[in-house]
This record gives sequence, C-alpha cells and structure tokens, in this order.
Amino acid sequence: MDHVDIAILGAGAAGLFCAGSLAGSGRRVLVLDHARAPGEKIRISGGGRCNFTNLATSYDRFLSSTPRFAASALAGYRPRDFVDLVDRAGIAWHEKTLGQLFCDGSAKEIVSLLLDRMRGTELRLGVSVTGLRQDGGRFVVETSAGPVSASQVIVATGGKSIPKMGATGIGYELAKSFGHHLIEPRPGLVPLTFAEQDLDLSRPLAGVALDAVTSHGSGKSATRFADAVLFTHRGLSGPAILQISSFWQPGDELRVDLFPKGDLAALLREARGQGGRVQLRTTLARWLPARLADAVAVELGLAEARLADQGNPVLDRVAARISDWRLKPVGSEGWRTAEVTVGGVSCAEIHAKTMESRLQPGLYFIGEVVDVTGWLGGYNFQWAWASAEAAAQAIVKA
Ligand code: FAD
Repeated sequence: MDHVDIAILGAGAAGLFCAGSLAGSGRRVLVLDHARAPGEKIRISGGGRCNFTNLATSYDRFLSSTPRFAASALAGYRPRDFVDLVDRAGIAWHEKTLGQLFCDGSAKEIVSLLLDRMRGTELRLGVSVTGLRQDGGRFVVETSAGPVSASQVIVATGGKSIPKMGATGIGYELAKSFGHHLIEPRPGLVPLTFAEQDLDLSRPLAGVALDAVTSHGSGKSATRFADAVLFTHRGLSGPAILQISSFWQPGDELRVDLFPKGDLAALLREARGQGGRVQLRTTLARWLPARLADAVAVELGLAEARLADQGNPVLDRVAARISDWRLKPVGSEGWRTAEVTVGGVSCAEIHAKTMESRLQPGLYFIGEVVDVTGWLGGYNFQWAWASAEAAAQAIVKA
C-alpha cells in the first residue's frame, strides 16, 4: 500500500490550489482524481475565460445554512491574493462588470498556474476514490487503483453539478461515513423550467434576452438580482435567473420585472395622451423587444387593441403583466447544467478557520463539497481558493 502524508481527493479548483499551498512544506502530498485531465471545470468556466475571482467577495455573497461560516476563510485569503498570483504568472486579465475578473486569454492559463504552483506534489489521474476509513490512526483511501494510506485527508471532490464533467457526489458519502450531516444538495445557478400551461408565453419567445430584475421572497428579506434574462424553450435562463435559482425551491413563487427601467403604466398613459391610433403592441415595442410586446398583447386578448381605446385599468394590467410577472417554475434543468451545488457537507461540523472536521481530526473538507455556495460572478472560485488555503495553512502550521 502507498503511504503519503496528505491525500487530496479531487483535482479541481480547491484540490489543485490546496496542493500548491502544501508544495514545499516537506510533506508527501498525493492528489487523486478520476478525470483524465485536472481542473476540467476551470477549463470550461466563464465561457472559457474563467471568472477567477470577484473583488466584492464577502461572506454575504454566499448561501449556507451557517451564514457567516465562510467569513473566516475568505478573510484569510482575499481576491487580491489570487490576483497577485495571476499577475506573477503573467496572465492578462480584465474586470468585466460588478468586480468580476476574467482572463483576457484562456481559462487554461489558470489551470497551468495551479499545476506550476503544485510542483513537488504528486498528481494521479484516472483513479476513482471509492471509500475512506480509519485504520490504526491512519486513513485508508479506497481507490480503483488500490488503497492509499494517509495521515491526513482533504476532501475536495466538489458537488453534484454536471456529472459529465466528473461530478459524483462521493464527498457526501465519505462525509456521512464519518458521521457528518448533509444539507440536502440541490442544483444552483441553473435555468428554470415551466409547466406546460406557462410555456404559452415563453416558448414563442425562445432566444429573446432583456434586462430584468428577478426576486424571491417578499419585503425586506427579498433577494433581488438585476441582470439579463433569456427566454428558452423550457422556461427562463440568463444571469438574473441563474442567480435567483440558487434561492428558489420547488413550490416557491418568483417575481420578474421585465421593465425595471421605469414606470410602464405611466409611460403607457403618457403615450395614450399623445393621441394617434397606434396599436398597443406597437407602443409596447418602443420599450420592449417586439416579440415580447406581441406575446403579451396576444396573451391578454389585446392583439388588435388600439392604445387610445384602453382605460387605465387595462393599461395597469398590461404594465403589471410585464413589470410584476409572478411565476411558479416547476423545476430546473437539474444537475446536467447547474453550475454549482447548493447545500453539501454541513458547516456545523467543520471548523471555519481550518476546514477540519469537528468529528474526525485530520479530515478536511474544502471547496464546493461544503455547504457554501457563491453567487454567480467568480465567488465560487474565490471560495475554492480561500477554503483550500485555510486547510493548507492549518496543516503547515500544526
Ligand atoms: P470541482 O472543481 O468540481 O473538482 C472536483 C474534482 O473531484 C473533479 O476534478 C472531479 O473529477 C473529482 N472527483 C469527483 N468524484 C471523484 C471520485 N469519486 N474519485 C476521484 N475524483 C473525483 N465559478 C466561478 O467562480 N467562476 C466561473 O467562471 C465559473 N464558471 C463555471 C462554469 C461552469 C460551466 C460550471 C459547471 C461551473 C462554474 N463555476 C464557476 C463553478 C466552479 O467551477 C466550482 O464552484 C468549482 O470548480 C468548485 O471547485 P471544487 O474543487 O470544489 O470542485
């Protein structure tokens, strides 16, 4: 049996970064992954340009059943720290919007950076992790290539999103076998789907994108995102929908304002006051994509209606249909397309400063396997780097 000091399970963002932080520590570090290449999700991330961090990172940009859990690790390793690494590697980057930093070139540059950084550690690909147990004070990692013995184990196997990219959920099984509880994992940052009867409006609009505000919940506790939404054949997608999808649970109602720029009812009244025999749908198309204006007019039985003939209640109804669209998605596109997993290994049984299990000394959980899920915009990678660094520093300093 192979004997190592530290076995890192998973060569994704968190596992690779952790190996890099442990390189040069004098420990024998082995990284195991069943994929053929390391960092596959990094490679496809950010449309191939990797949104590698967000300058606005703060614990309140993350969903977790233990809301402040991420604060400690995030404070220990900040976006600027990762930007320094990127700069030292000579990787060109730019800020796109809202603090989101992307490579100018390719996400592969980030994978190369991580691989360079972990020189001196061993990476074994094509090896599936199947189990983990304690034996005589050491861990035994069961793998498809035989058992590996380790003094410390870092679980960095990610969540369940995109099985085609190698996601298995094995980290949850390993955690449970050591008595850890799970916050039920569910797909996050994922397109939402509608019931057949709700598709009448959206299906003909497939491909239409516009700026909107999505919201979940009500009053002061409502969560809102202002960004683009995209109509699809099965429902809605686009950044504002992906963001709100992480908060949505089956049965919940969402609200979508498809005209957040102004007061549509007031604009319609003003336009009516200017006279003319223009059709309502033509007027709407001054502010909305023509296909959306048509679809709403048809749905409300106003396909041929002239603006001048409509009273205030009708105009209010039209405006509400667009600015206060209430919908109950029936589901999501699921693990096949979800960018992240919401939920995971409960933070209640993990030390926030070190990511070490409270139940099993020497066992660590980092990255997406933990019940910490970032908003869209580079937060998830920042969590991967920061949680990995917290575990590595704890091990190095021990
Ligand atoms: P992962 O990167 O998923 O790594 C887990 C590793 O474990 C994988 O390599 C997997 O092969 C391996 N593994 C799993 N099971 C086993 C097993 N049984 N045996 C051996 N190995 C196993 N986040 C951002 O911040 N910015 C972005 O631009 C961004 N874009 C994204 C785009 C897409 C399409 C997707 C899907 C996600 C994106 N994310 C982005 C999210 C981000 O990729 C993840 O949050 C991040 O990769 C999580 O890192 P991780 O190391 O915890 O898990």
